[in-house]
Amino acid sequence: MATGLVGYIVLTRGGDIGTRGSVYTYIMAGNGLWLEAENPLLEARIQLSSLMVRGLHPLLPRLELRHGRIPAHLLSLAMDAFSARSELEGYAAIAWDGEKYELVWPAQERTATSVVYDKVPNTVVGLHSHGRMGAFFSATDDGDDLGFLLEVVVGKLDRLVPAAGVRLCIYGYHAPVELREVLAGLAPWIEEAKAPGGDWRF
Ligand SMILES: [Zn+2]
Repeated sequence: MATGLVGYIVLTRGGDIGTRGSVYTYIMAGNGLWLEAENPLLEARIQLSSLMVRGLHPLLPRLELRHGRIPAHLLSLAMDAFSARSELEGYAAIAWDGEKYELVWPAQERTATSVVYDKVPNTVVGLHSHGRMGAFFSATDDGDDLGFLLEVVVGKLDRLVPAAGVRLCIYGYHAPVELREVLAGLAPWIEEAKAPGGDWRF
């Protein structure tokens, strides 16, 4: 049977029922509905809805960066550059170049309230700056982040302690994660922005 792009699985105690998708898979588990995806850079599972379903196996969230966590100095470099023009939004990507993670600055149009940028191949983390505003994900960000990647937003760049928040995006769905799940050697001076109520959508 040919594999579709989207798969559907029910996690019964007798084994999985259904088929996995080549791009992503919905999974009905004992604790709700989940979404799984993987590509050469990331493997992830997020919960879309919490619900007890009697008789099915439960699942836990999962995030694996296949080339390891990202050196936090790449975030520091980006924040330095964003701070230099904190009156504008800005965008940078952390991409896998085949051997290491690198910080990439694509062509972009920056204003005080928006940034429009060219997509960077093999992006693992998309970073954008809200300048002096807070670090949160806006409705505009939701429309921008339709791929499978991590998104970091930074803000309060005029403060002594800037803020950063991160979420996992899977083809239009989002789940909050913690910076230390994504970055290794994180500077203690970054204030981690938390998703209100555990969810960035507000
Ligand atoms: Zn934004």
